[in-house]
Amino acid sequence: MAAKVFQLKCGCKNDPWGKTGKDSLAGVLCSKTPGALEWDDSKTYSEMWMGTYPTVPSRILATDELLSEYLQKHPEVVGQSVLEKWGPEVPFLPKILSFSKALPLQIHPDKALAEKLHQTDPNKYSDPNHKPEIAIALSNFELFAGFKPLSDISTLMRIAPLQRFLPPDHPQTFTDSHLRDLTRTLLSLPASLISTTVNELLSIPESNFGPTQRYIPGLLDRLRKQYPDTDPGSLVAVLLMNYMTLGPGEAVCVPADSVHAYLCGDILECMARSDNVLNTGFCAPAERDDVGLFTEALTFKPHAVDEGVLGRRKSVVGGIGEGRTEVYQPPFGEFGVLGVSLGAGERERHGRLEGLSLVVVVKGKGWMEVTGGEGEGEKWEIGEGAVFFVGAGVDLEFGTEKGLLVYRPYAE
Ligand SMILES: [Zn+2]
Repeated sequence: MAAKVFQLKCGCKNDPWGKTGKDSLAGVLCSKTPGALEWDDSKTYSEMWMGTYPTVPSRILATDELLSEYLQKHPEVVGQSVLEKWGPEVPFLPKILSFSKALPLQIHPDKALAEKLHQTDPNKYSDPNHKPEIAIALSNFELFAGFKPLSDISTLMRIAPLQRFLPPDHPQTFTDSHLRDLTRTLLSLPASLISTTVNELLSIPESNFGPTQRYIPGLLDRLRKQYPDTDPGSLVAVLLMNYMTLGPGEAVCVPADSVHAYLCGDILECMARSDNVLNTGFCAPAERDDVGLFTEALTFKPHAVDEGVLGRRKSVVGGIGEGRTEVYQPPFGEFGVLGVSLGAGERERHGRLEGLSLVVVVKGKGWMEVTGGEGEGEKWEIGEGAVFFVGAGVDLEFGTEKGLLVYRPYAE
C-alpha cells in the first residue's frame, strides 16, 4: 500500500527582494532539511515553495522522487474529492516568504483572463489557472492590499500636488469607475512627473494629508529608498491602497484581480496552484505588464482595511482539532489552512480530512503521530523547517515538550 505520510524536501528561490542569509526565515527553514539547498550567508532567500508546481517542485526526502510523480502513481492518496476536482496534484501552493523591501505591485488574474493570457503567451503566463491567495503573518507584516474607501481617496486627491490628476469635470463623489481611471492615470505618468509629485508630497506638512493619512510622507520616503522615485508603484500604493500591519497569526485574503503589494515581513502564503501575475510597480520598467490590461482586470475588493483581513475561527472538539487549532478558510474553494500553536507539554488531535494536506513546522519542535487510518502508530520527531505530505483519511496527533507552531494547508 502506498505510504500516506512522509517528509518532503522543498526548494527556495533567491529573488533579489528576499532577506539575506540567516535573516531570511524562508532560507533558514528550508535549510533545515538535508540536501534542500546549498547555504550561502551572502545570498538572498525569498520564497520556499511546497507542493507540485513545476517551477520549484517538492521531492520525497527519503527517496528523492518528485512528489508530483509519486501522486501520479498513487492518485488515491490525495482523496476522492480532490482527485475528482483537481486530479492527482496538490491543488494549492504554499510558500514561506521573507522580504525586507516591497514586492511588485500586482494582481493575479481571474480564471477567464488567466486562460486567455496563457493561450497567447504560455512562456510568461505558465498556467491557465487563477491565483487567489491568503497570507498569514509569521512576523510583523506590513503590506498594501485592496483600495482605500472612496471617501478617503477623494479627500486626498484634492490636496494641491494631486488635484492635477483628476479631470476638470470630475464630480464631487467618487465611484469605482473613477478610481479605475485614476489608477490608470497614475500608472501611466511620465517618470519625471512621478518624481516631481513624490518630492512635492514630501515637502508639504504632514497635516495636509488629514488625520488618518499622515503616514503617507513617511511611507513615500521609505519606498523611494527601495525603488527609484520614478516608480509608479509608490503613488498608487500610498495614495490609493490600504496600508496594513499584521501581527503573527493574523492573515489577509487577496481575491483574484485584487491589487496588493507586500512591503516587509515573513509570511506563509497559500494560493491556488498558479504562478500567474501582472506587475505594474516596484519592479524594473521592462518587467511591468500592460497598464490597460492591469486596470481593466482590477476588482474593487477589498475596499477598506477591515475587508481585507481574513477572520479565523477556533476549531472545537468534534471538528478539526480540540481547541488549539485555528482555521483560516478563505471564500475561494481550493484550500484552507489550519494553524496549530502548542505551549510546553500540550497536544492537539486532528481528525481525518477527506483530502490531502501539508504539515509545515514553522517554530519549535515536538512530534507528530498517525493515530488512525493507514499508517496508524507511525511517529515522527518534527522540528523547524520540516514539511510533510499527509494523504487523505489520516488521524494525526501533535505534541511538544517546549512549544510548537505548525501550519497545515489542506484541500477537500
Ligand atoms: Zn500576490
